[in-house]
Amino acid sequence: AMVATRASDERGTAQQVDVAVVGAGFAGLYLLHRLRKAGFSTVALDEAGDVGGTWYWNRYPGARCDIQTIDYSYTFDPELETAWTWSEKYATQPEILRYLGFVADRYGLRRDIRFKTKVIEARWDDASERWQLTTDNGAPVSCRHYIMATGCLSAPKPPEIDGVKDFKGEVYFTGRWPHDGVNLAGKRVAVIGTGSSAIQSIPLIAEQAAHLTVFQRTPNFALPAHNGPAPSDRMSLLQGDRAAYREQARQSMAGVPYPQQTVVSWQLTDAERRARFEEAWAKGDLVYILTQLWADQAVDLDGNKIVQDLIREKIRAAVKDPETAAALTPDDHPFGAKRPCLDTNYYATYNRPNVTLVNLRQEPIKAITAGGITTARRSIDLDVIVFATGFDAMTGAIRAVHPITGRGGKSLSDVWAKGPETYLGLTVAGFPNFFMITGPGSPSVLSNMAVSIEQHVDWVVDRLAALREAGFTTIEPTETAQAGWGRHMADCSTLTLHRLANTWYTGANVPGKVQGLMPYTGGVGPYRSICDEVVSRGMLGFRLT
Ligand code: FAD
Repeated sequence: AMVATRASDERGTAQQVDVAVVGAGFAGLYLLHRLRKAGFSTVALDEAGDVGGTWYWNRYPGARCDIQTIDYSYTFDPELETAWTWSEKYATQPEILRYLGFVADRYGLRRDIRFKTKVIEARWDDASERWQLTTDNGAPVSCRHYIMATGCLSAPKPPEIDGVKDFKGEVYFTGRWPHDGVNLAGKRVAVIGTGSSAIQSIPLIAEQAAHLTVFQRTPNFALPAHNGPAPSDRMSLLQGDRAAYREQARQSMAGVPYPQQTVVSWQLTDAERRARFEEAWAKGDLVYILTQLWADQAVDLDGNKIVQDLIREKIRAAVKDPETAAALTPDDHPFGAKRPCLDTNYYATYNRPNVTLVNLRQEPIKAITAGGITTARRSIDLDVIVFATGFDAMTGAIRAVHPITGRGGKSLSDVWAKGPETYLGLTVAGFPNFFMITGPGSPSVLSNMAVSIEQHVDWVVDRLAALREAGFTTIEPTETAQAGWGRHMADCSTLTLHRLANTWYTGANVPGKVQGLMPYTGGVGPYRSICDEVVSRGMLGFRLT
């Protein structure tokens, strides 16, 4: 009886909605808009102080998108598309954040968002068939459906090095950069990490700092962005037939409208391959170089090795000191098996007299001290340490809500003890009315996420509306369907080179994290067809009650 009373008290004070959304980034904003249009009462909760997600948090110098911004945009409303013009091929973080604010204003989204509110627990109640979300700020939320739009790259990875607390200087994380910026002028600065955020920020930090020391564990392939105005050939394709351009992106492998390449490397002469490579290098486009050189580059080591070698030549040509060039040259993974980066002056920055590269493979960090960093070979005095150490990708933000309790009191972290298992990357068996946007098992980080997010949101909201129409109150995948999706994911990944690299795609960057390739490698277009087929075959793999 006491338990029943407490439950009803909680229900009394809880905010009651049909659908609760966690996150107010690209995904959460579009969810709110679609859910409202479909007539659901809804609320979004975000730990952040405003909309934007990734683009709210990542304010480090040089933060930009690396998918061309004309492609990295919402496409659901043609009027929105023409109401906004991007100023650059790759927009900066402030511009993308302004865009997301513009979208929030245009559709009046902020009135249904609770900012500075972190969801800390989520429990399914079998009797009422509702989720109860506990927050760290204000009323709990009671909802029929619980959607996590919590982001793939939103949970920063904590630093692995001892002594961070002892350091007397300033400490910053690229993923939590201060809103008023940081003055680095005249300071001795360290950047730890050489992933995408580091590669974007290092050239700008080097211009300000008295001295910059970069601590590198694993070198990444980086390509020049050649930023500027959006390329005229892409713009004229978009403006010529906007609908067709967007549709091609939705059916493509990576969510960017390029055709499927069919020529394989060994059909081309050396000179032809080099010409193709040079053309791609000059374009400054990650998706182009990943998909348009030759068809075997992502699936066959020989085809891939040719690209690797050509990029290595570029690195050697850009970096004057041979030892530094060698240290910056990736040698442990196929090109594309780990997320390549897009840079502006990255390699040339190492020619500056005020920049030093520390190769952690040769001299690991021993400790962070009050005055700096000590490696196996030397002590480096520092005023500022910047951690560009990445994210607990794809599952970090989901697991951080703890516990998420489904049917029969089972917690998601227990169910996922051996790694995430999902159906379509969207749902989990035993967790009714629970959805993830770009969850593990979806194309997510291997795609233009704007396209993937819109697909997920449309699919989920359309399903919720159809469910309501048909008088069902719960939806949940079967164990069989989920196991089948796991096998299909494994089959797809054996066809690609992703399995040959230890990366944040596989959880390798987080000590103790279960290893396994988390994104779906079958491609954006094929994934969309599967999701559509699930619907056209009577919600294949789902149990509705
Ligand atoms: P996010 O934008 O991450 O938003 C999730 C939100 O959920 C966050 O605001 C977070 O505070 C909130 N949240 C999480 N957990 C909780 C909780 N428990 N309670 C309350 N709130 C919570 N993708 C591309 O396709 N192209 C690019 O060029 C590109 N560039 C990127 C550059 C950087 C620096 C980074 C970090 C990522 C980039 N990405 C890019 C990936 C990017 O994350 C996605 O494109 C997209 O912004 C994700 O949107 P989202 O709404 O799914 O998640």
